[in-house]
Amino acid sequence: MAIRCREAGIGPLRILEKAGSVGGVWRENTYPGAACDIPGHLYALSFAPKADWSRLYPTQPEIAAYLEAVVERFGLRPHLSLDTTVTGAVWDEARALWRIETDRGPLLARAVVSAAGGLHHPALPDIPGRGSFAGPAFHSAAWDHGVSLAGRRVGVIGTGASAIQIVPAIAPEVASLTLFQRSPPWVVPRNDHALGPRVAAAFRRWPLLRRAFRGLLYGQREIPAVLGFTRGSFANRIGEFTARRHLRGAIADPALREKLTPRYRLGCKRVLVSDDYYPALARSNVAVETGTIRAITPRGVVTQDGTEHALDVLVYATGFDLAGSVAQLPVTGRGGRTLARAWDGGMGAHRGIALSGFPNWFFLLGPNTGLGHNSVVLMIEAQVAYVIACLERLAASPGTALEPAPEAQARFLAELHAELAGSVWQRGGCASWYQDEGGRNVALWPGTVASYRRAVRSPVWDEYVTAKSE
Ligand code: NAP
Repeated sequence: MAIRCREAGIGPLRILEKAGSVGGVWRENTYPGAACDIPGHLYALSFAPKADWSRLYPTQPEIAAYLEAVVERFGLRPHLSLDTTVTGAVWDEARALWRIETDRGPLLARAVVSAAGGLHHPALPDIPGRGSFAGPAFHSAAWDHGVSLAGRRVGVIGTGASAIQIVPAIAPEVASLTLFQRSPPWVVPRNDHALGPRVAAAFRRWPLLRRAFRGLLYGQREIPAVLGFTRGSFANRIGEFTARRHLRGAIADPALREKLTPRYRLGCKRVLVSDDYYPALARSNVAVETGTIRAITPRGVVTQDGTEHALDVLVYATGFDLAGSVAQLPVTGRGGRTLARAWDGGMGAHRGIALSGFPNWFFLLGPNTGLGHNSVVLMIEAQVAYVIACLERLAASPGTALEPAPEAQARFLAELHAELAGSVWQRGGCASWYQDEGGRNVALWPGTVASYRRAVRSPVWDEYVTAKSE
């Protein structure tokens, strides 16, 4: 967003960041095994390619370094205010300005782009006795690297995208690993491999080759969505067949296989990709515990049958509070209406980007613009282009307040939720972080990346209302 603003001559520009460095989830999540489940060549920004990703699926340190390098290469450093937490933002109607409060003082902005993301408020489970555990206990996104796991009895709660990377990474060094599984994920092979210097050299020499590779990676991932993956169709059956074969190939014990077989449609929760998760679960020092967790004690975890699983270290791979973190942004729009109030019936934004009552405020990866099947960076770039068009319009007419017309926003959201109603996320027989408390999917776009690109190709100004300050 910042790079495109600079290219478009939009400024002055300030980037506010609560942490001491850039990188978002790729800065926060340093747990063992952390890697992207989208290939690096597709995950990179389209205008900042990297020819030499070391693996097909790069690891966290490589992605974090890439993001740092992008900041340097595009000269963003002077625009960055690190260690600056936004504590509130209030729309000043008379001046058509946002007053942003931070822990380092206020600033005024004609427009604000929220690129705060949704997966950075760790969700710790509400289990009785959680605080009583005597040993080290931490969330996957706040890994305590000071704690050695070698030779210790480790418990991992959760079987989502984070857990399936952590378990194979730590299993070989721990004395024992107990994985507390509430519901098994669908897991398909990742087919990860090193890319090597010759691939990098070829991509450097022939950039078109790299672009073709990126196009291939993109196209492959669009296919399931094109085939109706989001509707729980034939494409899901093919996926389920692949995942079952993957499970059979790695797990010989029928009882364990049974435990690991999901009871909901593939795609309902995020489909996980891993080559080493199942082999790790087949190890003799790893146990999969499916009993509901009843309590946490100073010594370990008690499951419903009364068994106390003795542990030295406890890892919460229990995900993030999406709805809470986004709706809790302390934003007050026109007429004193807060974001939390605007969304008390459920999150939603016009084209996932703008919100009626919140002029000149834009979201990146806002409600219903996440993906389960392809790189979200593609979605972000489509949104950035849309927001730039809005910002250019504002720049051409200083003092203007631009926001979606309520009817246009309502129409967009009605169509979106009609589309979602028949989807695998609503009808696939599972609960996941994609849904809010009312069971509505507020996270995902119910189509292809191409269909979202079409939806945000350029702002339709009839869908917006403008007001001019004195
Ligand atoms: P998640 O997908 O929300 O998984 C949380 C896990 O914790 C689930 O298995 C859940 O069980 C379990 N859990 C929660 N409360 C529990 C309780 N009280 N008792 C037992 N189990 C409990 O979280 P995540 O794995 O951190 O992943 C979050 C998202 O981050 C992903 O979907 C993905 O978008 C992103 N991510 C991406 C990557 C990557 O690119 N490779 C890696 C990590 C994360 P249920 O399934 O039964 O709810």
